[in-house]
Amino acid sequence: MMRRYRSGKIVATIGPASCKFENLERMLLGGVDVFRLNFSHGSHEEHEQVYNSIRSLGKKHSCFPTVLADLQGPKLRVGQFENDKIILKAGDVFRFDLDSAPGDARRVNLPHLEILEVLQVGSSILLDDGKLRFEVLSCSPKYAEVKVLVGGPLSNRKGVNVPHVMLPIPALTEKDRKDLNFALGLGVNWVAISFVQSVDDVENAKKIIDGRAGIISKLEKPMAIKALEPIVEASDAVMIARGDLGVEMNQEDVPAIQKRIINVCHRLGRPVIVATQMLESMISAPSPTRAEVSDVATAVYSGADATMLSAESASGQYPFESIDIMSKIITKTESDPCCLRRLEDDAQLPNRTVVDALCVAAKDAAEFSCANAIVLFTDSFDTVVRCSRMRPVVPIILVVDTEILACKAGLCNGVYAVISKKEFNFEKICKFAKDIAAEHKFAAAGDVIVVLSDISENSLSICRL
Ligand code: PEP
Repeated sequence: MMRRYRSGKIVATIGPASCKFENLERMLLGGVDVFRLNFSHGSHEEHEQVYNSIRSLGKKHSCFPTVLADLQGPKLRVGQFENDKIILKAGDVFRFDLDSAPGDARRVNLPHLEILEVLQVGSSILLDDGKLRFEVLSCSPKYAEVKVLVGGPLSNRKGVNVPHVMLPIPALTEKDRKDLNFALGLGVNWVAISFVQSVDDVENAKKIIDGRAGIISKLEKPMAIKALEPIVEASDAVMIARGDLGVEMNQEDVPAIQKRIINVCHRLGRPVIVATQMLESMISAPSPTRAEVSDVATAVYSGADATMLSAESASGQYPFESIDIMSKIITKTESDPCCLRRLEDDAQLPNRTVVDALCVAAKDAAEFSCANAIVLFTDSFDTVVRCSRMRPVVPIILVVDTEILACKAGLCNGVYAVISKKEFNFEKICKFAKDIAAEHKFAAAGDVIVVLSDISENSLSICRL
């Protein structure tokens, strides 16, 4: 087990700055719980090499790193320009069309019939991460004539966002399907789907994935926020992809949406990752800004399961420093008594099940008996999530009999997995729990642990070592 002294998990994106074996090892030892393979970049061979390195590191250090494959999704782009770049001014009239000829100061190719078909007069179109803004003046399935609201330089193949319009495009492109099959073949634990717009997007991916990995819906479209609860319910976990979300919505709306998504995830029992620009300045500086430190702490105070590093760990100059600082911020914030109180104030009763009753009891038992850990025996990921979402004050040592579940659980707040053969007798389970807690230095003679099992029947006990 890779013992951490914090509950919040760290997701790190792997890229040129971190893909070598020794760098991945430094990241694992330095605090990374979930390794994100970003399929917007890199070849299958590169991802496979990284995947194999992570699995060998798991064996070398007797731990179960989590691997997440993040699919690119339908990233929309304009075509090329005659001279690679133009400058647009506010008030200019410009045209997007289906003609693949190189663009100029008056027009450019928008090779997406599906966008042109659903635009209406007054719709907004954003380019280059929202830096340029346009309003549609007139349109047909062949073109859109637009007024430039915010101008600037526009170069080849810049990304296009069309907020507030339900685009008739599936969240999985041909490339995504190939990447997905490849990632599932490797054995990744989670798959993140980009630009989810509806429950159907999640359900379609679910059919293909067929239980081979958990599904993370990336919430980055206003349409997804409109259908928030059903989308969260249909997903196994959620990522708040604040990059695109901040382009498609007013930036000032994003913090409240982040808080709302986290609350819905708690209520419905889904792990939630806060992503993008968390320590952005560390791409090129050895320490973060005060505002970034505060941003990570806010995600922890709100009860996120995990916080994510993107370019900071993938291509930045200070990948290891970013991990170290993120780890320190999480640890320090969690040690603030206000953090626990805030989470309790926000706690909303979940869809109650017998397992929830046990998890609430385990959390209270751990607190009142000053226990060092909860030792959870289960073969159900749902039980892991239900226990984790109670946010007990002590770590949850998860005892499972498959590596798949051990790795998948790495995303969940406060959960640390060990593998052991399944035991059905609760007396033996308690004895076993004491041995495991002692072996991994969670507890020593005289300390108390709480043991919870739903293997043969639901059982709970408070044991002294
Ligand atoms: C985002 O937009 O915030 C995000 C995480 O997506 P990606 O990095 O895959 O573009």
